[in-house]
Amino acid sequence: MTAPDPIPLARPEIGAREEQLALEVLRSGRLALGPMTQRFERAFAERVGAPDAVAVSSGTAALHLGVRAVGWGSGDRVITSPFSFVASANCLLYEGAEPVFCDVDPVTLNLDPAAVWDAIDDETAGLLPIDILGYPADLPAFERIAAEGDLGLLEDACEALGARDSEGRAVGSREHPATFAFYANKQLTTGEGGMLSVPTPELASRLRSERNQGRAPNMGWVDHERLGFNYRLSELQAALGVAQLERLEELLAARERAAELYRERLTALDGGAPAGEGPPEGLVLPCADRGRERRSWFIYAVRLPASADRDAVIADLAQRGVEAKAYMPCIHLLAHFRERFGHHEGEFPVAEDASERLLALPFFPAIVEAQVDRVCEALGEALGGDWL
Ligand SMILES: *Cc1c(COP(=O)(O)O)cnc(C)c1O
Repeated sequence: MTAPDPIPLARPEIGAREEQLALEVLRSGRLALGPMTQRFERAFAERVGAPDAVAVSSGTAALHLGVRAVGWGSGDRVITSPFSFVASANCLLYEGAEPVFCDVDPVTLNLDPAAVWDAIDDETAGLLPIDILGYPADLPAFERIAAEGDLGLLEDACEALGARDSEGRAVGSREHPATFAFYANKQLTTGEGGMLSVPTPELASRLRSERNQGRAPNMGWVDHERLGFNYRLSELQAALGVAQLERLEELLAARERAAELYRERLTALDGGAPAGEGPPEGLVLPCADRGRERRSWFIYAVRLPASADRDAVIADLAQRGVEAKAYMPCIHLLAHFRERFGHHEGEFPVAEDASERLLALPFFPAIVEAQVDRVCEALGEALGGDWL
């Protein structure tokens, strides 16, 4: 008997439409700064309900330009989450600003507004919340805090295309810039790529100049009116983006269906419950949507029982043909943040506990029920059913 095929952690959904539009670009002879990028930007802005959107080469590039757009620079202290992908803090360092971390909410794992209030002092220049794991951060609360303290606001929505906040607004549609990312495991992929949703035309035109070596929109190729970067997205990547955007609803629905299958199977396991609904030291599943908030499913990550050995579980799952991955280290505990800012264990207990226990399971639009069954059975066996 041959072993069944291993189940990968992630897999992009690329079809005939992506191929067709990519081929159109190849045959057009226009590979950069052309009509496909504009088409992608317009369609994206419309989808998220923003006045404009600017395509860039990665989510990290979007964050860097976002930091510059908000105006944070040397010595500015910006409050952000330690439970995020490293780029959301690195982007501040690029401009000489300093990330000030505070702890996250144990249910949503997003920056906790109460902790943010406590962390604000005279030196605080802004807030950089992240919609982590596709769950919308409490942007209405952060807007109130920012208005009161005259603080800048940038939202890292790189994991949350399609999410809605507590006021029912699409992530990316509020009055501050938000960043998106299109790496191969995101809800929408262009291989590599990113986007900023922007509230004003003036900001959009400045960002288009900065991503393109500081060139003015209508000036000659060699005229550079400000400091710029090469953060352009290619026409080929934009073609993938246009095709993916056309079927975004279908891709998001497929992810939601997969998440629901996981929830059903895993709540049947001993002690399995969504965050906030079961014992915090048990098997903690992603939280259910609260009020008008809507998660956009990015990955499916569970917090293993506190007593489990995560490395052993990952190795056990691998033996059973299931790819799983620890997700993700706290930013303040990464070597260069420890060395530079003197961070250490114990500063942000909620974020650190989540980071030590989270395990990402195979999750992609085309995953089938039988695969989810196999993953959940394997997880149950790897955990041995004796953790509570
Ligand atoms: C994916 C991601 C980014 C940006 O990623 P790139 O690989 O640069 O496109 C930024 N922040 C978060 C939270 C992410 O998940």
